[in-house]
Amino acid sequence: MEPLFLTGVLQDKIWGGTKLRDEFGYDIPSETTGELWAISAHPNGPATVKNGQYVGKTLLELWDEHRELFGDQEGDVFPLLTKIIDAQQDLSVQIHPGDGYALLHEGELGKSECWYILDAEPGAEIVFGHNAESIADFRQSIEDERWDELLRTIKVQAGDFFYVPSGTVHAIGSGVMVLETQQSSDTTYRLYDYNRRDDEGNLRDLHIEQAIDVTTIPHQDQQPQKIVDAVAGGTLTTLVTNEFFTVYNWEVEGPITFQQDALYTLVSVIEGEGQLIIRGKEYPLKKGDHFLLPNEVEEWTLDGDMQLIASQP
Ligand code: ZN
Repeated sequence: MEPLFLTGVLQDKIWGGTKLRDEFGYDIPSETTGELWAISAHPNGPATVKNGQYVGKTLLELWDEHRELFGDQEGDVFPLLTKIIDAQQDLSVQIHPGDGYALLHEGELGKSECWYILDAEPGAEIVFGHNAESIADFRQSIEDERWDELLRTIKVQAGDFFYVPSGTVHAIGSGVMVLETQQSSDTTYRLYDYNRRDDEGNLRDLHIEQAIDVTTIPHQDQQPQKIVDAVAGGTLTTLVTNEFFTVYNWEVEGPITFQQDALYTLVSVIEGEGQLIIRGKEYPLKKGDHFLLPNEVEEWTLDGDMQLIASQP
């Protein structure tokens, strides 16, 4: 009957910065820390439980040994992954495959993802989509390195939300911090990396043929309609719901009681502080906390003054 509070895994990236420490207080391993894998059962960075009877276990171990926590969900892998990303520099322009291509070629899930923009410096942009009308046109633009013509960019600000289905050309631009909810996958095909070199002077690998294979051409924009529900105690917004995940933005100003209407629920506190209350037991919450409400938690209350991003399979 307890929530699983989690310690995530911080990942050094050539494009990372220090906001995961400066804004969220995490103990970052380097001045170029790009990602926190906050709620993760991916073998490349599983989060660890920090309270209760499963303290010290990773979410990956619990998925394998205690499937009842996840409502006996079927499948080989825990399907979701929550990250916080600090793009001090531009991320590579990339595409992720869908499930069919990824399972065949990479042996893991495909990757549809979505971004809640936590912070954006003035003028900050993302790359989202492309302007090619055909595969031939897409290939020619890449060969000619006509990136400015090919890539679409969008200016962003805090509070914006983007659904990024597999097959979408995308990049998070410098000065943007996001909370990402994604399928649990680590497969990325890099299309363009600004001819940037790492510490050792090497270019990172590109995956042009795979990228051409999986990119949706022409680009399709499928931004979901938000559903806003004003309730006593705050505002509950459904940001996206599809076959992979449902993602919510919960703005809490007073007590709100929730029912577990999915197999389990992942929650990240992105602003403010308050309490989580389960059967009268209180757990303090603050910005930067991440937890999972297992299947057996049928009802919970959030109280305080805070903003949270939640997701369900
Ligand atoms: Zn991505």
